[in-house]
Amino acid sequence: MGFSITNICYTLRHTYTLCIVNTQKRILLMSLFKTLFSKPLSLTMSVTSANGFHLRPVAQFCTLAKTFPCSLTASFKDKTVDAKAVNALLSLSLEQGDSFRLDAKGNKADKALEALEACFTALMQNDKEQHSQKKSAHHYLGKTIEAAIIFRGVAVACLHHHTRQEHHNKNECTFKEALDKSMDELERLYINQKEEENGTIYLAQKELLFSLGSTSATLSEFEQKIQKESQKLIGTMLDSKRSDYQDILQRTKTHLGFNTEVIFPDVPFIFVSKHLLPSEVDTLKHTKVAGVILQETALNSHTAILLRAAGICAVICDAALTQNETIILDANAGVILQNPSQEDVEKALQRQTTEQAQKTRNAHNRFQRAYTAEGKPIQVLANVSDLASAEAAKEQGAEGIGLLRSEFLFKNEKPSFLIQKEAYESIFALFDDITVRTLDVGGDKALPYITLPYEANPFLGVRGIRLLQTHPEILEEQLHALFAAAQNKPIKIMFPMVSSVEEFVNMKRFAQEIAKKYALDISHLRFGIMIEVPSVLFLLEAFNEVVDFYSIGTNDLTQYLFAIERTHPLLRTDECSPVVFSALEMIMQKATKPVSICGELAANKDALPILLKLGIATLSISPSSIAQTKEEIRHA
Ligand code: PEP
Ligand code: MG
Repeated sequence: MGFSITNICYTLRHTYTLCIVNTQKRILLMSLFKTLFSKPLSLTMSVTSANGFHLRPVAQFCTLAKTFPCSLTASFKDKTVDAKAVNALLSLSLEQGDSFRLDAKGNKADKALEALEACFTALMQNDKEQHSQKKSAHHYLGKTIEAAIIFRGVAVACLHHHTRQEHHNKNECTFKEALDKSMDELERLYINQKEEENGTIYLAQKELLFSLGSTSATLSEFEQKIQKESQKLIGTMLDSKRSDYQDILQRTKTHLGFNTEVIFPDVPFIFVSKHLLPSEVDTLKHTKVAGVILQETALNSHTAILLRAAGICAVICDAALTQNETIILDANAGVILQNPSQEDVEKALQRQTTEQAQKTRNAHNRFQRAYTAEGKPIQVLANVSDLASAEAAKEQGAEGIGLLRSEFLFKNEKPSFLIQKEAYESIFALFDDITVRTLDVGGDKALPYITLPYEANPFLGVRGIRLLQTHPEILEEQLHALFAAAQNKPIKIMFPMVSSVEEFVNMKRFAQEIAKKYALDISHLRFGIMIEVPSVLFLLEAFNEVVDFYSIGTNDLTQYLFAIERTHPLLRTDECSPVVFSALEMIMQKATKPVSICGELAANKDALPILLKLGIATLSISPSSIAQTKEEIRHA
């Protein structure tokens, strides 16, 4: 609410009347006064993601902002906008390194700032930059055109350019009804894919539709707004998000009878498009498409993300390509060959066959144990983060769960004991060998409802096991739920971010006290630690006396060995550095309890032979890498 003489007069006039009514109304009046005369609270936030403050995080930020009754504005340079409206906030074009001010005024202003700051920090830290993928070597003889890889694969087929045909059918729907229907559709798409990266694309489109649609009275007003707003993105970091503006327009128009049809050939084809909309990827998935060339987009555009999720071989390349021409699209080597020679076509087909055969072999053998060439069995477990990924892991051939990241349960709000217990029970039912990691928040993993004290270096602050000092009640409830769900299963409980023996001993004592308090037998459970902090390397002899097992978290271990934040937008560490392998060697020499490895390094093809040589016999990796890693073990 703005501050003006009219507001004051209005308030004073009502003060007189309301004062004599009742207490409830006086309270209401006080809050009105507070709203009118309170100073705005502000804080400054800095964009750290290399992608800038783009559509998806902005939409998540606005969704939270809208839950607070106070007014919220964001200011950058000379511009101040409503921080609850996606489009307004996007118009600030905030890039990495920019700082903006967030002002909150009125009821719950302090709470809003607190929650939005935590949300913004998490959004920035979790916003992964999409790096271009490594291109494999090739031996084509003809002239090649370079392309950036969206999703790997090889295709040889005729080009087909994207064209749309619009038909108008008679439709009784009003503009307002069409908006509501589109919002409902996007909401459903978001809910169904909430846990995946794709989910937030629909949330972003829904927020965008709300912000541009609800302020338009007619379709033509809406259309004009879309054109005007998306024009502003040309040449900015958000350029590739223009397709989302067109997508929400197309979705709304469909409900008004303007059906848009894309014609696809009935034979395998390579699709070339300048403006493929995110929603059109779904239609494309059900055609005979062999590959896709996007001419104007970025690796992190929503169309590219959805192509990747659909597993369609795709690249970005802006070269002019002629319709109906046969081409080679090699999205492993990141090249396109126009009018290829017969020899090159044969090479491409050979590469395609080898890749297909490899995939089929991997898939076929995925449930078989993996033995090295010397006959040593290697246990391949999965890193999972919820029931769906645990089920996917089983289907991919996982022999158990080496790392259940329990944070998924805590993402949006604090889960009840019952919710936790039921979630653990359904995951525990899938495998015999399961390692659960207790809540690992702090650093790159913020939770909106856990307020940790301000820390200049959160990666060196209250993280993982250290939560026992600040939020023991959360850990108590989690351990209680885990113990109750485990029943007679020998579940392994693993603590993250352990840096001293005392920390582990205190935590285990805490766990035993909880078991006693709730009269639960935990004698069959095993307790271990993640090796993520370098100090553990020098304390292994003492740890050997108290832990039941170790799991090496190379993601964090590498970050702490090099003192480079794993999410840092500019600085990079080499996960295959000899320093990391020396640390692993030291662990393998000194540890007398079982050791597994659950960091990303475990699925790295180049690292695998070294890990096996060091004696590591248990790997825990993402479900999608299981079949291939098992095959690599067989040849290592
Ligand atoms: C690690 O640090 O290597 C690890 C597996 O844990 P996370 O990536 O969840 O921090
Ligand atoms: Mg870690």
